[in-house]
Amino acid sequence: MNLHELTAHQIIKDKVNPREVRKSLEERIASVDKKVKAVLRLCPDEAEVGKGVLSGIPIATKDNICIKDNLTTCASHILDGFKPPYDATVISKLRNAGASLFCSTNMDEFAFGSSTENSFYGPTHNPWDTTRVPGGSSGGSAAAVSAGEATMALGSDTGGSIRQPASFCGVVGLKPTYGRVSRYGLIAFGSSLDQIGPLTKDVEDSALLLNVIAGYDPNDSTSVDVLVPDYTKSLVKDVKGLKIGIPKEYFIEGIDKEVKDAVDQAINLLKKSGADYKEISLPHTEYAVPTYYIVATSEASSNLARFDGVQYGLRSKAAKKEVSDLIDMYFATREAGFGKEAKRRIMLGTYALSAGYYEAYYLRALKVRTLIKRDFDEAFKSVDCIITPTSPTDAFKIGEKTEDPLSMYLSDIFTISTNLAGIPGISIPCGFTKNNLPIGLQILAKPFAEETLFRVAYTYEQGTEWHKQKPKL
Ligand code: GLN
Repeated sequence: MNLHELTAHQIIKDKVNPREVRKSLEERIASVDKKVKAVLRLCPDEAEVGKGVLSGIPIATKDNICIKDNLTTCASHILDGFKPPYDATVISKLRNAGASLFCSTNMDEFAFGSSTENSFYGPTHNPWDTTRVPGGSSGGSAAAVSAGEATMALGSDTGGSIRQPASFCGVVGLKPTYGRVSRYGLIAFGSSLDQIGPLTKDVEDSALLLNVIAGYDPNDSTSVDVLVPDYTKSLVKDVKGLKIGIPKEYFIEGIDKEVKDAVDQAINLLKKSGADYKEISLPHTEYAVPTYYIVATSEASSNLARFDGVQYGLRSKAAKKEVSDLIDMYFATREAGFGKEAKRRIMLGTYALSAGYYEAYYLRALKVRTLIKRDFDEAFKSVDCIITPTSPTDAFKIGEKTEDPLSMYLSDIFTISTNLAGIPGISIPCGFTKNNLPIGLQILAKPFAEETLFRVAYTYEQGTEWHKQKPKL
């Protein structure tokens, strides 16, 4: 097997020289990234391999996670030239574990999107069919892992941005419980929704990477001080007696028949392995997308106010020549620096938060968010996990939804509630459509029950070969 195809646990177990792996990944990028365009830039190569549980393992990082003295742009023109003065906590943790920071990956600008088409640097292509999107917004990370351009990767998930691209690219993507992983140094999109998580070739690597990045951080007041278990202990092939909930609101019209069939078969496999299942109801599901687009854009408009040409990145050249005062400089920089979708989100969010509309939109959305959270609390009284498709369809064509933001927003219909409720979710490969495009199975659990996700995902993965398929590039 080629070294660029190895998982982290194989590299560790077989004591493969990680420097050789890095070399092989660099060669792979040189040969396929012209087509995939997942990688924005390589990190400087460290002379020595660090010691620790991920000793020397090359890790790709979504370009919204701060790496000290290394360009970090959120794939936005407005952060041109920005080099953070500190490492994000997840990056410090990776360094402490001996991991090798390998490359920064493409994304939708500021993580606004589901297709990685909203990048200042141009779209990433799905390795399974380069006329299609890899999903988003962590499309660069998902495509890089899928195409053998990175051993494992970090992404961020605000409404599905780890799980949906994992599903489209045939890899494993985990959004941890809100508060499980520090957000310190993650450039904020929706601060009450964002989580960093692993994108990996299989479930075991996901557990290995979560072990390293999880945990309380005094620098993030929303990180939670609960013990981090050893997640690799949950890699057991055993779901006997486990209760799976199937939410009836998720198996609706509009979901692709092939996707539905693949998920039904996955549920059957888990039943055969000893799990029980029952239909459940999450009655407020239909409000998830509108609620999310109020909460997420409101938070985004406030978070993006800091990008004004003063402290970070771009100061518009036009501004330098023409402006006469500070306000003009802000305008010129923001006009030149933000892309179309970022501007749309800033306007939507500013509107929802403005005096006179706040109660009707933002406040109301917060109330509905509580109802959505309660749906899950209620469901988890009688089931251990919930299974759904990750996305209603397989990967769509590049350009197919760019002119129709609403249909783009709907592609996250199954992933968004998870973030609103703060619960953990994982997407694992569960089949292919006739177009030879991957299908993802989503498993959700109670807050801080990532162990349940790993147990169910691992049991399923052990019974199938989907995760071993590789795109031909
Ligand atoms: N696609 C969703 C959005 O556009 C989610 C993005 C994300 O999780 N970062 O907001």
